Amino acid sequence: MALSPQEEVVSALRQFAERIDVFDPAPGPAVVEITVGDRTVPMRAPVVRALAEALRAYQDPRDRGTCDQCGGPRLDDNFVCADCGQPSGVFGQLLRERAARYEGPPPELPG
Ligand SMILES: [Zn+2]
Repeated sequence: MALSPQEEVVSALRQFAERIDVFDPAPGPAVVEITVGDRTVPMRAPVVRALAEALRAYQDPRDRGTCDQCGGPRLDDNFVCADCGQPSGVFGQLLRERAARYEGPPPELPG
């Protein structure tokens, strides 16, 4: 059975805290309590530091940087910006240069 969103968060926080707590032979008191719904996850100082560090280090797999043209954060799999529609990066630069040189299809030969 799938966990509810609340259960998933509580489970992840508790497992994270357990993973960090293992390394401290003399655990101190909880300095932060995170309440999700009706459940509370107490966290000691090393766990709080590790959680903050982990959250800051997280990078969404969809995060492909920012657009070279407008600075927008939403680039698709082809590095085309969802905000301005321009391709970004070296690939985008190549595409723009090619498009600027493109003069249309060659004229049809008389036949
Ligand atoms: Zn853009």
